[in-house]
Amino acid sequence: MTTRPGALRTLLVLAAAIVWQVPAFAATPSLADFQAAAAREHMSLTLPDYARTPDELRARVNTALKEADTALTALAAQDPAKLTFANTFAAFDAITARVGDVSAMSGTIAESSLDQAMRDAGNELNVQIEGWGVGLDYREDIYRALKAVADAKPKLDAESQRLMDEQMLSYRRAGLTLPAAQKTEVEKLRKDLSALTTQFAININEARAPLDFTAEELAGVPQSFLESPGVKQPDGKFRVMANVTWHATAVAENADNPETRKQVNIARTQLAREKNVPLMKQIVVLRADIAERLGYATWADYVIEVKMAKNGATAVKFEEDLLAGLQPKFTAEMETLRQLKVKQTGQADAQILAWDVSYYTNRLMKEKYAIDKEELRNFFPYQATLDGMFAIYQKIFGLKFTQIDPPYVWAEGVQLYVVQDAASGVPMGAFYLDMFPREGKYNHFACFPQKAGGVTAAGGYDLPVAALMCNFPAPSADKPSLLTHADVETLFHEFGHVMHVMLSRSRYVAQGAFSVPGDFVEAPSQMLEAWVWDKAVLDTFAADYRDPEKKIPAATIASLVEARQATAAYATRRQQSFGIMDLALHTVSKADAEKMDIVAVTNAALTRATVAPAPDTAFIAYFGHLANGYEAGYYGYLWAKVMALDMASVFKAAPGGFLDEKVGMRLRNEIYGVGHTRDVAGSVESFLGRPRSQQAFLEDVGIKQ
Ligand SMILES: [Zn+2]
Repeated sequence: MTTRPGALRTLLVLAAAIVWQVPAFAATPSLADFQAAAAREHMSLTLPDYARTPDELRARVNTALKEADTALTALAAQDPAKLTFANTFAAFDAITARVGDVSAMSGTIAESSLDQAMRDAGNELNVQIEGWGVGLDYREDIYRALKAVADAKPKLDAESQRLMDEQMLSYRRAGLTLPAAQKTEVEKLRKDLSALTTQFAININEARAPLDFTAEELAGVPQSFLESPGVKQPDGKFRVMANVTWHATAVAENADNPETRKQVNIARTQLAREKNVPLMKQIVVLRADIAERLGYATWADYVIEVKMAKNGATAVKFEEDLLAGLQPKFTAEMETLRQLKVKQTGQADAQILAWDVSYYTNRLMKEKYAIDKEELRNFFPYQATLDGMFAIYQKIFGLKFTQIDPPYVWAEGVQLYVVQDAASGVPMGAFYLDMFPREGKYNHFACFPQKAGGVTAAGGYDLPVAALMCNFPAPSADKPSLLTHADVETLFHEFGHVMHVMLSRSRYVAQGAFSVPGDFVEAPSQMLEAWVWDKAVLDTFAADYRDPEKKIPAATIASLVEARQATAAYATRRQQSFGIMDLALHTVSKADAEKMDIVAVTNAALTRATVAPAPDTAFIAYFGHLANGYEAGYYGYLWAKVMALDMASVFKAAPGGFLDEKVGMRLRNEIYGVGHTRDVAGSVESFLGRPRSQQAFLEDVGIKQ
């Protein structure tokens, strides 16, 4: 990565720059100080009142649902002559927001409580709240009241108009605008669909493919795998379960014998095919059928209507453009892998087959890009890394974070911070940090909103609260917690979600931070991942904890980038193959779905984007995402990632690089602050100051222009 004079200059002033124009508090400001400051601005900074016992939690949730039901029934029962936007749509937003807050509390308890009974209660209540939400979508009385107001076409400001339009659209999408008989039919089809997708997942879970190999056949596979429980058989052979991902990966990456890799690859791509191929066909036909009944040409058009891409054709074009842009790099990467195979086999015309990619990628990494990831940890002690990231985000977004004594925490070590606008000192929200693993805690890394921000009935603003839950390595007796470079990237990403919650200033809760379309919500955080690959950024905080004078050598960062780029085009096109097969399945009419050869269509997507699968296999049968969860939405991950790199490129080109305050403030105002109050495509272009482009993403993959 090249260094920019601008970035270096910024670096020198970074330490000096953090002198904030903030009203002074007593030495250690308390929550009450910030609450008083918020009150002076007609805002409230209220932390969630966390339930302490399962009964208390149940009572809290049940009361919230009962109060919401009472308020909603009263809303629907109003005199039709007296209905206004304020007493229907705006009231609906406020009522459902309170259920959202109690749901956030129950969800947090389910993932974080020390007490198993609390976690169980949280999980049970989440299911109850979800069921309540589904019922709410179909409440005819509320629909009639809202529709009466919408039909009268009141003159509204842009945000209110948008709230009304989106609510009415969601009713249309749920089928409420259909005549009764047709509506019943769609509801029945949805239930059928849900039964089929559930069965698809069950078939995946039940599929087994044990393959026994001799030690010789498994040459190259790590000893630790061979010694894993259940692998060694009484007859001296070793059992590989092709249905278990880490088994299949251990063989795919390490087995020197191509026949072994081939057998495991084929067994895995034949899993569940007798049951799930016909099931997938039924699923695809049913989806096309439902979409047509709701007035859409295809299921993709139905799903993507509320995403940034807006329709199936735009998502398809995105995939095609990216496929073409990656082609030269992809070809070069495959040739590099092929040369490794030529060298190993002595066959000049050797080809890279489906079961070779992981194996030769692994060899390439070992031979050419050996980076000591453990050694790199010494540069990322947890506290210095966190403080460093805080300094960067405070600087670029014009904020100040202050740690305060929390009135209550769900576990020892959880910390609480208040966020203020640095220039005015006005409080903006609060966040909890729960950063280390413990028994029973959520075991990934994520931001959990605790309380939505929004305008109160009195016209003030209720400030947002969030929690960051992570699982960084705990400190040991002789060493602080030391993060991997990947951990640091995760921290920058996840805390980006906290920033999104803190900075969103929507009037309506339904237009807050995480209400942005699903193919955009990850983009700002994916963008912030770029920070940790930049030497100027890393040098602000990353230093060997045993000798803080020692920074990460430029050559190490360059090798990290090179290693990431070595097979980045293949990795991207692998993702694309899933996106392309997803869109191929879901951009057809019902009539075309009925004629579709599911296996041919999905295998063709793999062949086009990556490497041809083995003959007589059906990858789709054991790939659950397109049946459950990501249907017609798989493109979204890369869609957001491409946009993320495009947005990061604006920082990269700015005088201050990734530490540029002007660009940071523009991001705060044009992206975070507005949330879902306006169309996100427009927000992104306002930030970029130009139309979107795939260029920066292609450069990140290593394509030199
Ligand atoms: Zn994320």
